[in-house]
Amino acid sequence: MTLSLGPQTRRDSRIDAFLAASPQRLLIGGTWVAAASGATFASHDPATGEHLADCARADSADVDAAVSAARTALTSPAWKGMTPADRGALLWRVADLLEANLDQLAQLETLDQGKAWGTARFGEIPAAIAQFRYYAGYPTKILGTTIPSSLRRQGPDRQVFAYTTREPVGVVAAIVPWNSPLLMAAMKVAPALAAGCTVVLKPAENTSLTAIRLGELLVEAGVPDGVVNVVTGYGPEAGQALADHPDVDKVAFTGSTAVGKRLVTAASGNLKRLTLELGGKSPVIVMGDADLDRTVPGVAAGIFDNGGQVCVAGSRVYAHRDVYAELVDRLAAHSRTLTLGHGLAEGTDLGPLVSRAQSDRVEQFVREAAGDGVDVVSGGEQEGDLCTFYRPTVLTGVTQSMRIMREEVFGPVVTVTPFDEPEEVLAWANDSSYGLAASVWTEGLSNAHRISEGIDSGTVWINCHSYFGPELPKGGHKESGWGYENGANGLENYLETKTVVTVY
Ligand code: NAD
Repeated sequence: MTLSLGPQTRRDSRIDAFLAASPQRLLIGGTWVAAASGATFASHDPATGEHLADCARADSADVDAAVSAARTALTSPAWKGMTPADRGALLWRVADLLEANLDQLAQLETLDQGKAWGTARFGEIPAAIAQFRYYAGYPTKILGTTIPSSLRRQGPDRQVFAYTTREPVGVVAAIVPWNSPLLMAAMKVAPALAAGCTVVLKPAENTSLTAIRLGELLVEAGVPDGVVNVVTGYGPEAGQALADHPDVDKVAFTGSTAVGKRLVTAASGNLKRLTLELGGKSPVIVMGDADLDRTVPGVAAGIFDNGGQVCVAGSRVYAHRDVYAELVDRLAAHSRTLTLGHGLAEGTDLGPLVSRAQSDRVEQFVREAAGDGVDVVSGGEQEGDLCTFYRPTVLTGVTQSMRIMREEVFGPVVTVTPFDEPEEVLAWANDSSYGLAASVWTEGLSNAHRISEGIDSGTVWINCHSYFGPELPKGGHKESGWGYENGANGLENYLETKTVVTVY
């Protein structure tokens, strides 16, 4: 297997200055500290194996300290006493600082996670910045209601005045995955701060670096001590300690369905609030009247961008028999045009997957499918000396019962299946334990509405895929999660309601 990684032309010295600060530390109560145990773990570039940095390995002692700092900060004058207008201005300042560091953050995300620089620089980091700008508008608009009450228990002359207030839910544990690290962190930290909560952020163990940099920029922006704490470490260690912690009020989790289910048990200890953004197996329905010139690149981007390591990746394509053969040919041809390389090299469309383990997992899915008689139309190979790259892969001849059709691969692998009738394709699309997202490709308004109405998922895109914005609620039906992020729904996750009843 040969793969030319190319020179890392997008890399500049600012990134090396940041990496030179290794070992990276934990942000607890406004101070950067080593793990209490002194333990660290290493972060590597998945494309080259380059050692990037060592990070502090938090365990339950560090989690205790971070939660305690967050609890103290929650009622501190510096945070609780901050006016809503000032809280909004602070969030805007965070956005400005992220923007001033956009190039560096994009490089860091690419090095640590593997993704193509363009995905980070023009997609995910701007989207993370947009989260802070969007939620900066909310602190001044968190409203209660006045309620016309009919209670007259103390007699007809006694009136009741009742109203609600909205209060921060409290200390939030934000636990995020490795596929889009900074964006996933921003989607939790921004609304949590807008609501007046305090946060302990735990990034995924293989992509901690942009969370650490975010912590530095939050401090620089003037976020008071202890309001955001960053603990790097392993899921079963630091993550589990956070989920179990009796002084955490809410867990905001994005990750796999398997870990999400474990967190349901962990949260039951003190009945923590829990939002879960979990896995998916998103169907893509191409109707017979679809404009293939528009559909093919859209469907390809929906599965191949970020190496398919996207929760909403359009991994199950169903194409009407009228366009099926042409779609398969054009999608496979498109997949062969994509350039694999180092994420920071010129011209790279796809970087490596996040790790050898992830690449091996994808390889195992494809091998098993091929063994079951599935046709590998394009791709189906690991690449590179470290085997961390995976060729964009198109599979046909897949049936509904096969594992590749039912489980999340989280790699650049798409199945394409023909259908004849809308009822048939809707049944197949919904035949999944997941219900995260779907897309429909059609030039017909009726098709678009009928299919989008019939699909059981949190998001349906029409003639597009993976369109996100901080204003668009995002969440999963079925085993894809509990609750919604983004928009007003996203803020609700971080608020409690208090009803005040006065008799006068
Ligand atoms: P993961 O569930 O393995 O890990 C996610 C986070 O949970 C990491 O920080 C990890 O350290 C932590 N963790 C692991 N075990 C834990 C435990 N026992 N207690 C507490 N925390 C623990 O997921 P991943 O492999 O990092 O990410 C990929 C998954 O995330 C995919 O399933 C993908 O679909 C999902 N995802 C969902 C969305 C969404 O919005 N629905 C977005 C991105 C990714």
